[in-house]
Amino acid sequence: MELLYKSTRSENETVTASQAILKGLADDGGLFVPTEIPVLDIDMDTLAAMSYQQVAYEVMKRFFTDYTEEELKRCIEKAYDSKFDTDEIAPIVKADGAYYLELFHGATIAFKDMALSILPHLLTTAAKKNNVKNEIVILTATSGDTGKAALAGFADVEGTRIVVFYPKDGVSPIQEKQMVTQKGANTMVVGINGNFDDAQSGVKAMFNDKELEASMEKEGFQFSSANSINIGRLVPQIVYYVYAYAKLYANDEISKDEKINVVVPTGNFGNILAAYYAKNMGLPIDKLICASNDNKVLYDFFRTGSYDRNREFILTTSPSMDILISSNLERLIYRIAGSDATKNKELMSLLSGSGKYEITDSMKTELADFYGNYASEEETAAVIKQIYEDTNYVIDTHTAVAASVYKKYKAETKDETKAVIASTASPYKFARSVMDAIDNKYDSMGDFELIDELSRISGVEVPQAIEEIRDAKVLHDTVCEVDEMPAVVTKFLGM
Ligand SMILES: *Cc1c(COP(=O)(O)O)cnc(C)c1O
Repeated sequence: MELLYKSTRSENETVTASQAILKGLADDGGLFVPTEIPVLDIDMDTLAAMSYQQVAYEVMKRFFTDYTEEELKRCIEKAYDSKFDTDEIAPIVKADGAYYLELFHGATIAFKDMALSILPHLLTTAAKKNNVKNEIVILTATSGDTGKAALAGFADVEGTRIVVFYPKDGVSPIQEKQMVTQKGANTMVVGINGNFDDAQSGVKAMFNDKELEASMEKEGFQFSSANSINIGRLVPQIVYYVYAYAKLYANDEISKDEKINVVVPTGNFGNILAAYYAKNMGLPIDKLICASNDNKVLYDFFRTGSYDRNREFILTTSPSMDILISSNLERLIYRIAGSDATKNKELMSLLSGSGKYEITDSMKTELADFYGNYASEEETAAVIKQIYEDTNYVIDTHTAVAASVYKKYKAETKDETKAVIASTASPYKFARSVMDAIDNKYDSMGDFELIDELSRISGVEVPQAIEEIRDAKVLHDTVCEVDEMPAVVTKFLGM
């Protein structure tokens, strides 16, 4: 049976999976959601024996029903190959009383690779299926990790171009170096004078600009999005929760149907929403633990039912979570409103107007699966040090936010349900903050000296992604104001 997608903001646009992936965002500014969540009607013993690629196919075929078996398998094969430094793709490490699901073994050593290594293939396949002749222009706002992962995924992919906007002073030095050294004639990287939310709003405004769309069309271009608002990113993220559960079961860490908790360091709410979808497919997940850093807008939301972005934007050592408008939350709001597009639209216009909204009591009761909390900068650093000293395992700052929140959760609830912590970045990507947390004696070391020291103390080899940028040349140096973003794009396209 064909699964269709509709917008979270109106009833009148129904599209196929491939069309939803092509468009990224619905015409009314809403996000595409499946009209129902498919059931994971496959035995756990069967899943337990499968490779990552096989699990990926089982999950994705239930969502992307207009792709043929051959098309989907080819996309999966091209995505999850030797770009990953382990055949397991997403290995699990047991440490300090939890299971760390390492989602950082791809080309750019952050979890964004899990979805962005397949999105270009899903997208170019979708273009063929829908007879799109235009060149696809990917516009992306990044808090650091999406940008590089998208660039790596789309570089030199025929029929595509990609422009990435990042907050000039809001990413780590390694993140910035990874992006500005990107090769590929179809790539452009731009720093903006503003924060991530400014970059994201600027990109959204371009998507909604009908005049720009018309002049692009004339020149043979159309926009699409690689941000986690694209359903083609969300679905591949469901895969690793199913895979992790199946591997824990295969390795006798859990019994059949035993419920697990999932802890996710959260920014744009994409990763944890994927876990929520996995749960709704029937995967035995109990609590979804949403971990925030000092930008704790989601913690306040889960506590009070009120979402309020009117607050100071705080730069932290987990920059990929420095976000005050979590775009994917809209998909959850829509669902807990009983798939009511009118109600959702009303709340989203409050958000873009006054910057806040409040959900009803009945919607609040639908949030019982979620637990939200946050970790301060001190708590984040402390947990990195503690886990390193107790177990020799080094985690990055984002994963540490989750680890810290998980400890708070256990202390508060006494819930001893086994937990999977989404480990979203390699510590190498945030080496400075990680090493500072472990010992302040590393203060005086240079960036790459620090990398070598991290390798020495952790016993983990320096990843290829880091080696690559040691001596790489800077190829992108454009910086612009937020209101100059459209001009930068049209210039790049030669319009
Ligand atoms: C993007 C990112 C996050 C946040 O994920 P969301 O899906 O935006 O909630 C957390 N950690 C790292 C390392 C990331 O790159």
